[in-house]
Amino acid sequence: MSKKRNVLIGGAWPYANSTLHVGHLSGLLPGDALARYHRLKGDNVVYVSGSDCHGTPITLRAVKEKVSPKVISDKFHEGFVETFNLLNFSYNLYTQTSTDFHEKEVQELLKKMYDNGYIYEKEDNALYCEHCQKFVEDREIIYTCKKCGKTAKGDGCDCGEVPTFEDLKEGKCAVCNNKLIVGKDKNLYFKLSAFQSKIEDYLKEHESHWRVNAINETKKYLKMGLIDRAITRNLDWGIKVPFEGYDNKRIYVWIEAVLGYVTACKRYCLENNLNYNDYLKENSCDICYMVHGKDNINFHTIIFPALLMALNENYKLPSEIVSSEYLTLNGDKISKSTGNYEETVDIVSKGSSDTLRFFILGYGPEKKDSDFSMKLYATVHNNEIVNKLGNFVNRTLKFKGLSEIKKDIMDVDVKKIVLEYYEKIGAKIEEYEFKEACHLVLLLLEYANKYYDDSKPWVLFKENISEFNKVIYTCLNIIANLANILNPFMPETSLKIKDILDLDSLSWNYTEIEKDLKLKEIEPLFTRMNV
Ligand SMILES: [Zn+2]
Ligand SMILES: [Zn+2]
Repeated sequence: MSKKRNVLIGGAWPYANSTLHVGHLSGLLPGDALARYHRLKGDNVVYVSGSDCHGTPITLRAVKEKVSPKVISDKFHEGFVETFNLLNFSYNLYTQTSTDFHEKEVQELLKKMYDNGYIYEKEDNALYCEHCQKFVEDREIIYTCKKCGKTAKGDGCDCGEVPTFEDLKEGKCAVCNNKLIVGKDKNLYFKLSAFQSKIEDYLKEHESHWRVNAINETKKYLKMGLIDRAITRNLDWGIKVPFEGYDNKRIYVWIEAVLGYVTACKRYCLENNLNYNDYLKENSCDICYMVHGKDNINFHTIIFPALLMALNENYKLPSEIVSSEYLTLNGDKISKSTGNYEETVDIVSKGSSDTLRFFILGYGPEKKDSDFSMKLYATVHNNEIVNKLGNFVNRTLKFKGLSEIKKDIMDVDVKKIVLEYYEKIGAKIEEYEFKEACHLVLLLLEYANKYYDDSKPWVLFKENISEFNKVIYTCLNIIANLANILNPFMPETSLKIKDILDLDSLSWNYTEIEKDLKLKEIEPLFTRMNV
């Protein structure tokens, strides 16, 4: 037996201001496949994520809808949880950044960074609204764009132009529409610039494990030079600043949300009598995967590692960066406002959560942007899964005239092939090459169907019953091993097969059925999609 590894998997924290669509899911699903695979291998896995519940988009929406920011973020959080459950995500903990636990832990982490000299105070020019009696954030300003002449929010115009401080000075408060005045405001800053060479070394050491987009994006930022970033802002919704003189400010989401990997891991371990250092520290955590879309790369390859370095306590830095490209829908950007949108629950009701998972992992935006359409999805569902997997299981377990499959002798050649697929598929999953892993799964299904066709059990059943018993028993064992191999990709189907075959447990090990199996009436695993 190989050594059990300690594996931490961090799935990106979705922002609780919208619903999760297939595009978001395509960036997150690799994390669940990795978690399931490592559990089957017998590794110790902590797989965490949560909803990012703070920040101005949520507070502005709350003002508009006349409710508290907590109501807004809780509502979307609940929607996220429903979607993750629908797709059978197996997080050990899916939490929120608005919990007391997260707040308290982030405050402790920030104090340590401060004590280590990586957080400092600085005074800046800032814009103040005398009516609201507060310094306003960029997003809380309405100004006229110099380039296109349109009215825009202070964090940037739709035309792509980014306003200067001088442009914003002419703007107005988005809440009360009053003119703004310039004042002096102090904020706390994180000394990101101090980590330039350390992050460069970290990249060199790990890049052979990263996706190409992560390497390129990280290099791009390092080339521009890392600059210090403000960690406090003028808001009343968010994590309280654990230093004196900052009662009216809160911690910026960019710093506290990524620290959620540490706080969620710690919380899960404390609640389950595990040692959180086993998953968080360099000398005990074996693999740390970070799983997200390409818009999130720098938070996981620069900011998060720099924060861990600033703690100076030998934290395990992310070793594997699993950053996906974008998924489009019907050839276009996914957008509720333009109507180019499909609710995940509707997609699943027409197909199945398992085949949607298989589509996302096998045909998704792993290394380049890819497209989803109901037509493409139906083709994969029908031609690959129903025809190859559904059919093989059906014609074995519903063999006409057969009431039980007797324990017999497994065909040695087939066993050898199945063992090879465990190796090959496992290796591809560990390299997070899910497209190739799914392709191998399909090859295994094709092999199984070919074995069935070539052996002609329907002829043997009449002419050579001892040979028939061997063939059908061999097919049964292929199905038992499919229960294992399919689990990271199609967990519902995997568990259905486990149930039908009465298997004790699933694992990433070759399995044989050790007893006669009575065949009962079973529902087909899948129904065809009509699109
Ligand atoms: Zn105002
Ligand atoms: Zn503009």
